[in-house]
Amino acid sequence: MSVYRLLLLSLASTASLTPSAAAQGTARLPERAVRRDIPITNSIRRAYAAGTRDSTGRPGRNYWQLRTDYTISARLDAPASRLTGHETVVLHNNSPDSLGQIVLRLDPNIFLGNTPQAAPWVPAEVTDGMVITRLTVNGVSVNLEASAGASADGARAAQAAAAAQSAQVPNQPTLLRAKTTSAQINLPTKLLPHSTTTLEIDWNHKLPGGPGVGHRMTQRWADTLYQPTQWYPRVAVYDDLRGWDTELYLGPSEFYNNFGKFDVRIDVPAGWIVSGTGVLQNPDEVLTPNARERIKRVLSTDSITQVVGPDEVGPGQATQRGAPIAGEDGDRLVWHFVADTVNDFAWATAKKYVWDMTRATIPGKGPVPITMVYLPGRAQFYARAGAAARHALEFYSKQWFPYQFPQLTLQDGPSAGMEYPMVINSNQGAADHETGHQWWPMTVSNNETWYGWMDEGFNQYMNVLSDADAKKEVANFDAYGQSYGGVSGSEAEAPMMWNANYDGPAFYGFTTYGKTPLMLSMLGGIVGDSAVQRAHREWAQAWMFKHPSPWDYMFFMSHALKRDLGWFWYYWLFTTESVDGSIQNSRTAAGRTTVTVRQDGQMPSPVVLEVKFAPGSQAIRPMNNAVMKDSVTAIVTYPVDVWFAGSKTFDAVLDFGARPIQRIRLDPSCRFPDRDVSDNFWPRSAAPAEPAQGQGGRRGPSCPA
Ligand SMILES: [Zn+2]
Repeated sequence: MSVYRLLLLSLASTASLTPSAAAQGTARLPERAVRRDIPITNSIRRAYAAGTRDSTGRPGRNYWQLRTDYTISARLDAPASRLTGHETVVLHNNSPDSLGQIVLRLDPNIFLGNTPQAAPWVPAEVTDGMVITRLTVNGVSVNLEASAGASADGARAAQAAAAAQSAQVPNQPTLLRAKTTSAQINLPTKLLPHSTTTLEIDWNHKLPGGPGVGHRMTQRWADTLYQPTQWYPRVAVYDDLRGWDTELYLGPSEFYNNFGKFDVRIDVPAGWIVSGTGVLQNPDEVLTPNARERIKRVLSTDSITQVVGPDEVGPGQATQRGAPIAGEDGDRLVWHFVADTVNDFAWATAKKYVWDMTRATIPGKGPVPITMVYLPGRAQFYARAGAAARHALEFYSKQWFPYQFPQLTLQDGPSAGMEYPMVINSNQGAADHETGHQWWPMTVSNNETWYGWMDEGFNQYMNVLSDADAKKEVANFDAYGQSYGGVSGSEAEAPMMWNANYDGPAFYGFTTYGKTPLMLSMLGGIVGDSAVQRAHREWAQAWMFKHPSPWDYMFFMSHALKRDLGWFWYYWLFTTESVDGSIQNSRTAAGRTTVTVRQDGQMPSPVVLEVKFAPGSQAIRPMNNAVMKDSVTAIVTYPVDVWFAGSKTFDAVLDFGARPIQRIRLDPSCRFPDRDVSDNFWPRSAAPAEPAQGQGGRRGPSCPA
């Protein structure tokens, strides 16, 4: 703080200089004013004032969050691809606030065709969106007329607004914006703090299909496989940072959901297999005796058990026979699932699923079942999926904390590469990554819409660890941090603290997924990779089943690492700056070598020099800030503090005695963002022919030896 304040004072003092004095260069402006604190916005300021969060980075003494318990019955009309549901939501207002509204998330409305979408995401099909036919709050029916016909296009929107005005009835709750992805119930009577409110909702919508394979919300293949996601009206999060979360669902950015219990009954044609979040409550009613018998051996072996084979199709073969229903042309079965504390519920069903199972053994917990359901012709995509999911569950359990849920299910279908609690819509291709999401956001539940890097970015980082572990190698984060220098400087890149809903098509993936491993690589270059992971583990355990903010992460990590890392978080998360280091010069006189290091970027970093000595007999004198890597190589480190006075150049004085130095290299582990790596070597001719560059991916950039 004190140095930054001094810089501000020196900046302020230049304002009073006469133009001629400034022109003569007598103004003592710093070349680079290094910011050393973490910006505090109004939302986190409010939380600190209320004591819900604090600068330890742990949940504050007054921390609270809503709880929402859902009971849902849904019926699939397969020929029409229509899902009809009745839902009861018990909303526990654990906030200290009286709430005059309830915000509902109606994601199926993104298929209306006239709601906002973020490029390049394209919905699979235009539908009639989420149709709400009845809604009550504590038994009082909600006026739905105000939203009837409302849409996002101009003239109709104006008409709808006028209708909303005239249709509002005193003392009756009113639903507004029902044809957007963020609707609102206005309440005539506020929900008191610590009260419980019951919503009842009747709804239906068409499950969208179409050509958009691979999109998260493409939810069916023809009329024989369905993968409903974001499929029921959800109560939005109300939190201590921003109140109701009214962010629109635009396609790319993901979710922010309350925790609660789900009790879900899914009514499908007999013979169709249903998988999903939670634990099946009525296996005797829906599974054949053969299937139930096969499931009994799943937890005793790592091998694959086939519960329903490709030749077992239809009622009496794949499932029990259902009860014939008057007026229907077939039998139906109701599958009943319960999940105790989760932040969403997803499921899948198909006329011909093959059902395989295996297990993972969770440390301190024992075996949990892994289920895979896939189409008979697609077995090759699941051949390695069980082993991949098992490795992920077991490795991440050791790495962070034991897997918290009673099962994991991999579901085949068009929504490929997506995660929900206990469910991944993935085959073996993304099984490791999607399973990783069971830690975040499914257990440590960040606001993904704003801060996707807190689940996708952390996940990308730990996938590097898991990949290495699977190959019995040690993960290497060298070069990740340095590679950001090749990206920094684009006007299209938003800082990671910007709301990811508005990151833009060119940089959404990089900001949300790619940049975090680069940031944590640099942090590892300062404190060590194992220290980063130890601190991250402690942070994760402190926030299980809660909603951490980025400030909680920054402050927690700084405390756990016992470092003043304000400057680090500021430059990585609030800016798009890089370090751009170089060696400007090196000269030896009287047994001392002075290396002039320059940083052209705004982000500072420690100075790390690799010094190679000539072979010889002269002793190499120890330096306090140097360690010998081998008999002719020293690593010399100066802390980031050397930049805080504002100069862009730093003279590192090497006092190793008379042994001649052959060459010097800046940032030998390639951890600090650098645009041009070739100027990190002295003499310059020591630079490798092709310096490593590029964005970090699963394979990772390389750091030349
Ligand atoms: Zn992901």
